Amino acid sequence: MHEITHIGVIGAGTMGHGVAQLAAMAGYETCLYDIDQARVDGGLEHIRSNFAGAIERGKATLEERDQALARLRTTTRLEEVCDSVGMVIEAAPEQIELKKELFAKLSALTSSETVLATNTSSLSVTEIAAAATHSERVLGVHFFNPVHVMKLLELVRADQTSEWALQRAHDVGRKMGKELIVINDSAGFASSRLGLVLGLEAMRMVEQGVASPDDIDRAMVYGYRHPMGPLRVTDLVGLDVRLAIAEYLHAEIGEQFRPPQILRKLVRAGKLGKKTGEGFYKW
Ligand code: NAD
Repeated sequence: MHEITHIGVIGAGTMGHGVAQLAAMAGYETCLYDIDQARVDGGLEHIRSNFAGAIERGKATLEERDQALARLRTTTRLEEVCDSVGMVIEAAPEQIELKKELFAKLSALTSSETVLATNTSSLSVTEIAAAATHSERVLGVHFFNPVHVMKLLELVRADQTSEWALQRAHDVGRKMGKELIVINDSAGFASSRLGLVLGLEAMRMVEQGVASPDDIDRAMVYGYRHPMGPLRVTDLVGLDVRLAIAEYLHAEIGEQFRPPQILRKLVRAGKLGKKTGEGFYKW
């Protein structure tokens, strides 16, 4: 089996452009796909601006930027992104039917030795894999936002995933400089499941008048060395996003994920966190 030299990325949005940037920086010939030219251009613009910031902060050189950009192509044709790729990383919208359709197409357009990975943050990787032929090459690669900054990469093993596909994704993740963990496909993987339990408990504490949001957050920052407290994280992620994940994990896993009333009320009032100017904090 040949070493992976070419990576295709599907979707040039928040996550896809970051994954493509990282792949090109890690030395892979990279092709970034989206459904229309404006979105592809937008992704490329974000990559250029990430580089500009990194150069300004002394984290990257002009030479590194030029080399990475020289390895990066874009396309709006699915056949082109699949051409001679060793791995495809999908970062299209979080909709199960859309992802299943994509994986059926991607598996038809690539060799059976091409690893097909989804960056889903909540959907069943096993269900997505079932839509592909040779589903033993499908797995989840859960990157975090911003992709070029966050260290963690969760590799998600679907019921069908083979050891070789996992190993190849592991090698790619290491080359991208990530810290890797392997999770068996289950709701919320490790990161969302643990992160949300803490976030929901912190909200219940606000609801019960145990302490102010700031004091609850400072308990974790100064007592447990978390870089940021769970309520501030919630404001950054978006209260609506956290509510949707909580509802999903409540249905899939159980009572500990029942969304607190305070979360529902704030979402109803349009207080979604930083993006609307107010959540548990005023921004
Ligand atoms: P996004 O909306 O920013 O980007 C999605 C991109 O996919 C858009 O550019 C869109 O044009 C493109 N797209 C739409 N239909 C498509 C199709 N049929 N084929 C290919 N591309 C298509 O979304 P995002 O935040 O980058 O999320 C992408 C995936 O990554 C989702 O599965 C999401 O759950 C997951 N994820 C997101 C985050 C995050 O913080 N945003 C973190 C981890 C994982």
